[in-house]
Amino acid sequence: MDFRLDEAQRMLADLAERMGREQFAPKAARWDREHEYPHENVEALRRAGLLGMTIPKKFGGPERPLIDVVLAIERIAKYCGVTARIVVETNMGALGCVMAYGSEAQQREIARRVLEDGDKPAIGMTEPGAGTDLTALKTTAVESDGGYVLNGRKHWITGGGVSRTNLIFARIIDSNGVDQGIGGILVDLGTPGFSIGRVEDAMGLRGIPEAELIFEDCAVPAANLVVRDPKDGFKMLMNGYNAQRIGASSVALGLAQGAHDLALDYMGQREAFGQKLKDFQGLDWIMAEGEIKLEAARLLIYRAACNARLIRNNVMLPQMKEASIAKAYSGHAAFEVVSESLQMFGAAGYSRDLPLERMLRDVRMFQIGGGTSQAQLNMIARSLFPPG
Ligand SMILES: Cc1cc2nc3c(=O)[nH]c(=O)nc-3n(C[C@H](O)[C@H](O)[C@H](O)COP(=O)(O)OP(=O)(O)OC[C@H]3O[C@@H](n4cnc5c(N)ncnc54)[C@H](O)[C@@H]3O)c2cc1C
Repeated sequence: MDFRLDEAQRMLADLAERMGREQFAPKAARWDREHEYPHENVEALRRAGLLGMTIPKKFGGPERPLIDVVLAIERIAKYCGVTARIVVETNMGALGCVMAYGSEAQQREIARRVLEDGDKPAIGMTEPGAGTDLTALKTTAVESDGGYVLNGRKHWITGGGVSRTNLIFARIIDSNGVDQGIGGILVDLGTPGFSIGRVEDAMGLRGIPEAELIFEDCAVPAANLVVRDPKDGFKMLMNGYNAQRIGASSVALGLAQGAHDLALDYMGQREAFGQKLKDFQGLDWIMAEGEIKLEAARLLIYRAACNARLIRNNVMLPQMKEASIAKAYSGHAAFEVVSESLQMFGAAGYSRDLPLERMLRDVRMFQIGGGTSQAQLNMIARSLFPPG
């Protein structure tokens, strides 16, 4: 077991850190304040080779291991959570599901869109009546005239209205009206019958829209079906989503590391009672506890990423239990670290003049989106008490 980064990984991490500090940090407050999507950052990421990093060589990608994506996300999130989330969406999520389970034509097309066009595939699972309990979803894709017709509503879909590619979880109904279980189907933005509804006024990560996707008699070709397997389709899609959980955990970790670093620096400058904040042992211990939380989260995330197993098509996916442990721990720990870092600044930390309050709003998401902390605990518990 070797915990050191190799030379290529160090170079990648340095590149991401530099881009974060020099290119993304200066405008991070603007995306938040203006509710504006950072299109210019997507193009910068694309040019730097940080989109589609795990895409197999046969589809034109660099076929890097999942841990490399984690390293890039973590470094960028220190400076801009929104931009780091775009690295997640363009490397994991829908892209991971299609790369693992899609047809060769689907893989080739999604790879091209990400690598050449900078598309940020969206994944549409959640519905007003189906969040943690995804099996309650009501969106249908009915087989008809050699294709599928979708009806239903998704909400809180990251990148909705910006992403051209949308992987939609739907109940697949065959031409005889028989429910084939939950499958995944690709729907392009602009397809007739597909519209964007309400965009959420979210607490944090406000540079990316969280939107409602509405399907009204939306017809797509049969070739858009990614997964249809009455027995295992849903399980496969959720398996594909495990990489996204590692990505989300990495954003949380990066945000927490960024806040922690700012606090350490400030504690060396700010004086109270004739001494620097760093000379108060009570504060040092809070920071030491934060350091432990960061290191523990990092190890869990790196382990889950490094243990990703090869499945179809040269695609590596993490194991469910390791991904859930990493997400449950890092979501919670990162929130605590950002909150304690903000505390070191006193009133200044509570002001919009500094990035701490934004980081606190951003990091809160990671105990909810991508499966809540409780959902992760349920999955971990199920592995401890298997049925039967
Ligand atoms: C910023 C953001 C981005 C998102 N992006 C996407 C996206 O791109 N695509 C997408 O499909 N979805 C997305 N979501 C939705 C997200 O996945 C859901 O919000 C999440 O799965 C929880 O569902 P819910 O909000 O309906 O809460 P509910 O399922 O209603 O849960 C409410 C509360 O009950 C708890 N709970 C529910 N069931 C159990 C149980 N069995 N045991 C213990 N506790 C339980 C939950 O943990 C939660 O605390 C996003 C959400 C946010 C906030």
